[in-house]
Amino acid sequence: MSVENKGTALVTGASSGIGEVYAERLAARGYDLILVARRLDRLDALARKIGAATGRKIETLKADLTERADVATVEKRVAEDASITLLVNNAGISLNGSFLDNDSDAIEKLIAINITAPTLLTAAAAKTFVARGHGGIINIASVLAFAPEMFDGIYSGSKAHLLNVSQSLATQLKGTSVRVQAVLPGATRSEIWENSGKDIDAMLPGMVMETADLVDAALLGYDRGEVVTIPPLADEQQFLTYDAARVAMGPNLSRKDVAPRYRA
Ligand code: NAP
Repeated sequence: MSVENKGTALVTGASSGIGEVYAERLAARGYDLILVARRLDRLDALARKIGAATGRKIETLKADLTERADVATVEKRVAEDASITLLVNNAGISLNGSFLDNDSDAIEKLIAINITAPTLLTAAAAKTFVARGHGGIINIASVLAFAPEMFDGIYSGSKAHLLNVSQSLATQLKGTSVRVQAVLPGATRSEIWENSGKDIDAMLPGMVMETADLVDAALLGYDRGEVVTIPPLADEQQFLTYDAARVAMGPNLSRKDVAPRYRA
């Protein structure tokens, strides 16, 4: 069966987990791929596998997204490669422990990968896609954006940042043909848990989604034009009510007068 050529999707963190499934699914949907991560051997093996299965053009790009120079290389590619029509900001890490257990280097590294890199790549993609009149950005955030009490607030804060950036950008992009989606997975089976010293099955029995289910659901949300997609949330109204309450608070959040309860 032939599929329509959709241009090129650049996927960060494609060497494992959720990013690997995005790569497979996007190629099957007709995208050529640029796969970005540090483990080039795994990217190359995936590229060969997907190339053989789909016949798509797959390129691998070794980049350490904690390194400003490597981020700049990817940014430049996004800005200058006119074939790129979709950016998937998926690379991310979690911390082993919390504020009290991690040194400055570990915290800075998380901020570099989870906040700085996807923010700069989103900015580069948004500018270039608006100039070209089309394109899409998918930011992999997390349900922890809504749950600062769970785990460390640094990881959840980084995901709240991505959600915020995506919602803000979606507002700015209204009326254009450029799309942005924030995907909020719950616990999903991948290496991220083991890499941050957690046994996912022991911690969260019965709460763990498979990467394939997560990505298929997220792409369905993308097809439907959702700005925020939360694959595990069965009752969508819970999010809509939450978000409506947030928006309703807006007009009351900036006033000349101090709120009565703070008057001496
Ligand atoms: P994963 O299997 O550990 O994948 C993480 C990816 O990020 C890998 O491809 C890794 O590639 C890449 N990466 C890590 N450090 C990097 C660096 N310095 N430079 C470039 N790439 C780097 O975990 P995953 O669960 O699929 O994570 C994907 C995204 O989903 C993350 O943003 C994560 O926060 C988010 N998420 C996951 C869950 C979950 O429960 N799994 C839940 C909510 C959100 P290399 O090591 O080869 O560089």
